[in-house]
Amino acid sequence: MDMQATTIPAGDDSGPDVVAPEPDEGVQRCLQLLGDAGLRPTRQRLALGQLLFLRGHRHVTAEGLHEEAMAANAYLSLATVYNTLNQFTEAGLLRRTAADGIKSFFDTDTSVHPHFYLEGEDLLVDVADGLTFTKLPEALPGHEIARLDVIVHLRRKRAT
Ligand SMILES: [Zn+2]
Repeated sequence: MDMQATTIPAGDDSGPDVVAPEPDEGVQRCLQLLGDAGLRPTRQRLALGQLLFLRGHRHVTAEGLHEEAMAANAYLSLATVYNTLNQFTEAGLLRRTAADGIKSFFDTDTSVHPHFYLEGEDLLVDVADGLTFTKLPEALPGHEIARLDVIVHLRRKRAT
């Protein structure tokens, strides 16, 4: 379709010209990202995509992102946030890490990298460096290693 085909014909409307606002740069980037991942840009995906993918490398929980969405006046249910996070994960935009067996963190960096989990503070952060793998085990017969998750659990030192 060429650009001419999308031009709205003028002259049949006496009202003021209505010009659709140009989506801002962040929205454009989000549209591109969703399109590349094969996801339709629904309202909720765009709202959450902007919170997730325009702010650098992030680790979020569904609950935390839900609160952010509410603060940004995007009134989405927690279930919608959770479903959207799972769709983003399946599309390869996020990587899911279960830190304590109950709560999942969603990481905008989908590469393999180790994490610190701060127990009691409910935070997942990247391990910058200082962790080296020298050898991986052989996979079981008929299997291959699909991924490797390393979470180093931290707790506050007790005052002595
Ligand atoms: Zn990470």
